[in-house]
Amino acid sequence: MTLFAPRLPPRFGHATFARMMHDDSATVAVLRARVLAFARERDWEQFHSPKNLSMALAAEAGELMEHFLWSDSAASATVAQAPAKREEIADELADVIIYALEFANITGIDVAAAIDAKLAKNAAKYPVEKARGRSDKYTEL
Ligand SMILES: [Mg+2]
Repeated sequence: MTLFAPRLPPRFGHATFARMMHDDSATVAVLRARVLAFARERDWEQFHSPKNLSMALAAEAGELMEHFLWSDSAASATVAQAPAKREEIADELADVIIYALEFANITGIDVAAAIDAKLAKNAAKYPVEKARGRSDKYTEL
């Protein structure tokens, strides 16, 4: 089932991806195209319903959280920097983001526009003068 069939830009071959896959050079469009190409090569789009992708994203978020389970906040910062754990943690973060990008691909949601719109809503809920330095929910400010 495909709700929205994104098109893979022809310029995005494997060599192009290899050159661009770093935070300072990859755009959201490049990342979306990269995960789309990966799924399409395997004929996995048929499994990419919003239900399945949202659940997979949550499951991967759980796998990321598992690395920090039972650690206090200070210890979790140490765990995140531990060389022995760093690759595993990066893999779980990548899984979360990959599923989020696949969700955007299958639904046609523009990630940058969605982030911009949500930050505007968050800014209204959490005005700097009320929220600065506080972790309270907006209903408690
Ligand atoms: Mg995982």
